[in-house]
Amino acid sequence: MPAVWSPDTLLHQPGGEVWVGVTTPGTEIPARVEVIRNALVAAGHELVEAGRQDDTVLHPIHHPRLIAHLRDVHTEWLAAGFAEDPGQDRVVPYFFPTAAMLGPLPSQRAAAVHARAGQFCYDTMTLVGPGTYAAARAAVDCALSAVDLIGNGAPVVYALCRPPGHHVTRAAYGGSCYLNNAALAAQRLRQDGAAKVAVVDLDAHHGNGTAAIFYERADVFYGSVHVDPGAGWFPHVVGFADETGIGEGSGTTHNEPLSPGSDDAVWCEAVARLAESVAAFAAEAVVVSLGVDAAADDPESPLLVSADGYRTAGRMLGQLGLPSVVVQEGGYHLPSLGGLVCAYLDGHASGGDS
Ligand SMILES: [Zn+2]
Repeated sequence: MPAVWSPDTLLHQPGGEVWVGVTTPGTEIPARVEVIRNALVAAGHELVEAGRQDDTVLHPIHHPRLIAHLRDVHTEWLAAGFAEDPGQDRVVPYFFPTAAMLGPLPSQRAAAVHARAGQFCYDTMTLVGPGTYAAARAAVDCALSAVDLIGNGAPVVYALCRPPGHHVTRAAYGGSCYLNNAALAAQRLRQDGAAKVAVVDLDAHHGNGTAAIFYERADVFYGSVHVDPGAGWFPHVVGFADETGIGEGSGTTHNEPLSPGSDDAVWCEAVARLAESVAAFAAEAVVVSLGVDAAADDPESPLLVSADGYRTAGRMLGQLGLPSVVVQEGGYHLPSLGGLVCAYLDGHASGGDS
């Protein structure tokens, strides 16, 4: 199976995360790309380097101000002197003008770069460094180059996207994500002729960004299995079972929140229900948001899925028989990360053959 990657995805060095006020090393690191790439090669997948896509590809999904912010904010941060005083060379927001703060007041663009950071980023964990935008754009290139290969007749293509993307909304980033690779892939599949596209999100966390982007649309289904936000997990306030879409998008969202400690049996049953929904939706193409952080060894979630579980999920989604773009999302346990990805891809390919 073709596997699209880009060396530029290594350029993003988050330099840690700020969580509950404390700087931690962080787990969304460049080594993730290296271990996945090595596993892909060992498994015999054909590595393809992503082609450069014009910035205009972002416009159907992301607000122009978000794109400009991500492109320019680190340069402005350095120009403002924060690297020297107080000694922070990454963009870390501290001020969040929420809807509750603003009420009926209009909101202006903040003049101060340190305030502007929180107009676009909704958490303190998602830092911007010198290579962040280049890497996020390269991840988009991977996803859209994978769609191009589908257009050339490949039945399933994997995109080694890093940083991940499913937490990014139209105008806000967070959750270690900067641009929504999966949403952009789904949009491109629509533009390339698929009347209906389904996104199936297997990451341990609800993909609130993708969900929000397509919540009111009838032409793109979003289904996700994830750890129950009601049990205290990111993204905390969304991802519940009663979120099913609104307006023209009524019925096109399907969430499967699972209790912490859920294992293969429970998780695979939920994936089967998502596959049924995709079939009922009559999707003509599917984007899989392949987070493998639902694995038992992963430090970022309490789900207990195994490589066999991911292989089974792949088989079920492959059996849909649809052109498929598999986009990398989370997955942070370096020793098992590559094997989990390959297990999924192996299952998906075998499902397509049956
Ligand atoms: Zn995740």
